Amino acid sequence: MRRWYRTMETIAVWFSCGAASAVAAMLTKQQYGDTCLVRVLNNPVIEEDADNVRFMRDVEAWLRLPIETVKNHKYPNCSAVEVWERRGYMSGNAGAPCTLELKKMARQQFEMDNDIDWHVLGFAAGEESRFCNFQEQERRNTLPVLIEAGMSRADCYKYLKEVGIAPPRSYEEGWPNANCKGCVKASSPTYWNFVRRVAYDVFQARKEQSRRIGAKLTRCHPKFLAFCSKHEDSLWYDDRTKTCLHSEPDSRGVRKLISPRIYLDELPADAKGRPMKNLDFECGIFCHTHGG
Ligand code: SF4
Repeated sequence: MRRWYRTMETIAVWFSCGAASAVAAMLTKQQYGDTCLVRVLNNPVIEEDADNVRFMRDVEAWLRLPIETVKNHKYPNCSAVEVWERRGYMSGNAGAPCTLELKKMARQQFEMDNDIDWHVLGFAAGEESRFCNFQEQERRNTLPVLIEAGMSRADCYKYLKEVGIAPPRSYEEGWPNANCKGCVKASSPTYWNFVRRVAYDVFQARKEQSRRIGAKLTRCHPKFLAFCSKHEDSLWYDDRTKTCLHSEPDSRGVRKLISPRIYLDELPADAKGRPMKNLDFECGIFCHTHGG
């Protein structure tokens, strides 16, 4: 219910079950807690690791603030799998519908019912340009609390350990973030073969659902694919369709290789792409096509 009078400004801290947004919530409370109403908000997604809930409760106790749940009324189960099934779409150039429905739409519904003056997200030191892009494209009224404090993501992780809060176990297990396991925003073969190794049931479920829906979730260098070969012109081809996998020549005559998108059931177990530490896709609450 929208309040009919307001005595102080309201700051919404969007807590994503990551170390950065947890520390951002604490800094916001310390800096603005006496003069503003600080509300810490979370969009649950059931495909995230169960330990995220433990982490959220630990952070809640540390903050001494309730962490409120924000859901899309159309998806009360908060299931990304359900979104993909109902939408018949998993991921592509138009983004991922799960972020759109479970985070962006949930946030928009929340903002219809609640007056929010300022937003805080986990933009950390070192992410200044991402923060500026976000301000320009999404919300001017965003406070860069971690950037102003000079705290990087690694600093946040360390800080939580120092105050005795174990980060979500996804980090310890080697996942690039604490978002869903088997995130459809990832297209790296490195990531999907990691999922196959450490969360086989998730890999099997994504494999089955994506084939049925027609979503080619990964992009793989043709050297790993039996149906591709390098021809005499030194270019890679898809031998099934006889199509060249290179772009048209640019002004310098260079033809860029465009690795084909493939289904997960076509992904060789030895295929690799960029190392896991270089994968920086994230699931944001504002823009469903970019991290945030
Ligand atoms: S983490 Fe990935 S799979 Fe989960 S809601 Fe976000 S985009 Fe979708």
